[in-house]
Amino acid sequence: MSDTLPRLVLKFGGTSMADAERIAHSASIVAAEARTGRGVAVVVSAMAGETDRLLSLATSLGGGLGEVETDTVLSAGEQVSAALMALALQRVGLKARAVMGWQLPIEVDGPPGSARITGIDPHLLDALLDQDTIPVVAGYQGVSADGRLATLGRGGTDLTAAAVAAALQAECDIYTDVDGVFTTDPRIEPAARRVGRISHDEMLELAAMGAKVLQTRSVEYAKAKGVVLRVKSSFLDAGSSAGTEVVCPADIAERRVVSGVAYARDQARLSLYGLDADGAQAAIVFSALAEAGVGIDMIVQARSRSGDSVNLEFSVEGKDLDRALAALRRHLDEMPGSACAHQTGLAKVSVVGTGLRGRADVARTLYEVLRSRNIAVRMAATSEIKISVLVDSDWLEHAVRALHSAYGLDQS
Ligand code: ADP
Ligand code: ASP
Ligand code: MG
Repeated sequence: MSDTLPRLVLKFGGTSMADAERIAHSASIVAAEARTGRGVAVVVSAMAGETDRLLSLATSLGGGLGEVETDTVLSAGEQVSAALMALALQRVGLKARAVMGWQLPIEVDGPPGSARITGIDPHLLDALLDQDTIPVVAGYQGVSADGRLATLGRGGTDLTAAAVAAALQAECDIYTDVDGVFTTDPRIEPAARRVGRISHDEMLELAAMGAKVLQTRSVEYAKAKGVVLRVKSSFLDAGSSAGTEVVCPADIAERRVVSGVAYARDQARLSLYGLDADGAQAAIVFSALAEAGVGIDMIVQARSRSGDSVNLEFSVEGKDLDRALAALRRHLDEMPGSACAHQTGLAKVSVVGTGLRGRADVARTLYEVLRSRNIAVRMAATSEIKISVLVDSDWLEHAVRALHSAYGLDQS
């Protein structure tokens, strides 16, 4: 085994596992790394489209998201992939063994469908690596304290990979269908450029705002545990992907005010009118939404014109809208004079960059660009390093491209 190179975890997403040919190509990338003599472990996703297929099967028989049996169905996709990858590695002469989350075990808690990893026992992985055998771990799943399978939320194999890397003190390469993190989704803007290095905070914000190239929790985990995280393409030959490394801000020489534009489809806006000005009713509203498991995104509060009540607007993901409305209606009946309205068909566009701190001109450009194209801003929110706006879905791609160009992200 190499004394100089740290161990490496290679993660392959759904498109990299889409069919036998792609699995064989992904296996060739693993083989090239393994032949350097460094300890190598693999983490895999279900074949592209498989999790959706399993979910609709489970749903057709009454299985809801967040139910244990549904999770058991969903976890099967990664289990098949792990065994297929192990076969592909064996065929090219490597020793490999498929390992299910419960066999390590990967311990989790929290609700099925969005469980959190609480620990990984590295013994089996270490033992396999000591025998020059490549462990191929089924992503997206773990086992709860009561011995049931639970999944980690969509895109969760990225998190499995970061956690396995932390347990093995390894570096982590996430292989996907694009050659790294780009200034925006290259499927929407072909002029998007690959970012060679990106800070954890920028990557976290881009991921949280919808750039699904890395799952948000995997970036948080890698940052917290100091795991070196890279994004690479499995569609190139072994060793030819330049990719992106997620690093500490101090390691980035080139500084841009804006580093990327992210988007999320299917957003909804809820408006509540005539709530008590003292905030007591707003508190009831938000606790009802929290109990219903509805995540709130942007919040805007304003005094009504008469000044004796407040109006509250906030955004939720479209998939949570019905649950949010049901929770609100139960309480609004007890709040005389209040009213509720909602709007669907919205999308969120976010401009992200650590250079945004204290720069009002970034917001000015954003509003000028959208106004000059007659794209209405339905709601806006900021954090230290991002500005997000809700726009009508029909305008989403147009807005992404216009902002990408306005901030010079298409220029090298
Ligand atoms: P995997 O199946 O490998 O997990 P995903 O579909 O989850 O892959 O993530 C890769 C996709 O993320 C790309 O195909 C791309 O369309 C999308 N994407 C969105 N934003 C970005 C971005 N800023 N940079 C690169 N890819 C992005
Ligand atoms: N297969 C799961 C999904 O489609 C997990 C993953 O691919 O990361 O969300
Ligand atoms: Mg993914």
